[in-house]
Amino acid sequence: MYTLPKLSYGYDALEPYIDKATMEIHHTKHHQAYIDKLNTALEKYPDLINKPLSDLLRELTSLPIDEADKIAIRNNGGGHANHSLFWEIMSPTKSVDEKLTKEIIETFGSVDEFKEKFTQSAVTRFGSGWAWLVRNDTGKLEIYSTANQDSPYLQGHTPIIGLDVWEHAYYLKYQNRRPEYISNWWQVLKLL
Ligand code: MN
Repeated sequence: MYTLPKLSYGYDALEPYIDKATMEIHHTKHHQAYIDKLNTALEKYPDLINKPLSDLLRELTSLPIDEADKIAIRNNGGGHANHSLFWEIMSPTKSVDEKLTKEIIETFGSVDEFKEKFTQSAVTRFGSGWAWLVRNDTGKLEIYSTANQDSPYLQGHTPIIGLDVWEHAYYLKYQNRRPEYISNWWQVLKLL
């Protein structure tokens, strides 16, 4: 059974960029709900519980299971994987990944150019979804966004940086101001 991962910082630790109430509801209600629904979807398939979630998502389309269960795993397994990464890459203190920074500069020209492209992807995602920096199947860094809770693992990519742009991630503090949320979010991304 999947369980809610603990955060390595308090709900108020990312203030003023992400407020305490949003963090607490997002973690204990939204993320927990994805986990509960994922566990329910997997009840029929005890073998799949032991598979790493990333593999489950990578192999999802070829698994011999009901289509309705595939959709539930895509949405809720994606939700669990996406949020688990999201909590992990944020922190009140920076812990810059030098190797990643170097690769970002090589790929996108500079960290600022990377941020600009990523921000564009996050701002223009229509409705609910995520912006991503992934390592694609050829090993290259790539920026794109996905709808809903679709994980990059579904297309064989490995997510490195993911930004939640569902309204539940920012609405209490930012209301409709998604660009402001995104621009402040760089302050709590520990990797860069
Ligand atoms: Mn979320």
